Amino acid sequence: MTVIGFIGLGNMGGPMSANLAQAGHRVRGFDLSAEAVATAAEAGVEAVASGAEAATGADIVVTMLPSGSHVLDCYGTNGGLLAAASPDTLFVDCSTIDVAHAREAAQMARAAGHRALDAPVSGGVVGATAGTLAFMVGGPEGDFAAAGPLLEAMGRRVVHCGESGAGQVAKMCNNMILAASTIAVSEAFVLGEKLGLSHQALYDVAANASGQCWSLSVNCPVPGPVPTSPANNDYRPGFATQLMIKDLGLARAAAEAAGVDAAIGLHAARMYEEFGAAGGIGRDFSAIITAIRDRSES
Ligand code: NAD
Repeated sequence: MTVIGFIGLGNMGGPMSANLAQAGHRVRGFDLSAEAVATAAEAGVEAVASGAEAATGADIVVTMLPSGSHVLDCYGTNGGLLAAASPDTLFVDCSTIDVAHAREAAQMARAAGHRALDAPVSGGVVGATAGTLAFMVGGPEGDFAAAGPLLEAMGRRVVHCGESGAGQVAKMCNNMILAASTIAVSEAFVLGEKLGLSHQALYDVAANASGQCWSLSVNCPVPGPVPTSPANNDYRPGFATQLMIKDLGLARAAAEAAGVDAAIGLHAARMYEEFGAAGGIGRDFSAIITAIRDRSES
């Protein structure tokens, strides 16, 4: 039985830690929110009083936190995770954070005598609950192999992307594609509407032709063609616009730092920020079609 310290028991970390407990691991969980701790405890996670206590005696420490500064704080003097853990503990950060922070976190862990991976996820709360997340992992091959059973208890697809930070790079690039493709599919539906083409007809053509993509065939932004897409449920997330804005912010910072001409990605970031500020923040990100349609009214 593996002993796992789990820090950050929120919307994602709560169900992820519950799946680890259900897989037979001993999971010692901590969160600043007493409510999050209580919910995880009901699902079989052992509640402890601090992050340091969760890391003490753990074989693996998982973090699922809001941002890079939270991760560094928890690893370092504030949270004391690295100092509390036994030598050679495997630290797996599943949070979505910027690449520089991910590399710094891995360096801090190694300097303290531990092993480290960045392992951000896609699949959202639904995937976290069902244990079907996709993990994008950065770090040494040996550490990746050691984390395999843990990641497989929480997810369905696990990809080793390269050295430390590579998991975050993959996640950010994927979500930049996702934002741009969702906007492109939305514009096509609005143009089709204006010209008298039914949603179903456009779907039937594009889903079987070169316009096919996840934003069309799974997360279709209009109700009807894909009954399970958030558009059929008043755009309840799903993947909230707020999270897309966060991920596009990371992509923008990385593109600017790397000097990459990511014109479409940066434009998508601006469109999502405007949509969020105009009230879309809590809606599924595919609801951006409503803003495109509103702007297209003549
Ligand atoms: P959340 O806000 O629900 O959970 C974060 C938890 O961290 C909170 O419960 C908070 O109390 C806790 N926390 C913050 N600082 C802490 C500290 N110092 N010690 C202990 N606990 C602390 O967020 P979430 O939706 O679970 O997202 C977590 C991460 O997963 C984020 O990086 C997010 O970008 C990423 N992510 C989220 C989704 C999603 O659909 N929600 C999908 C993919 C990735």
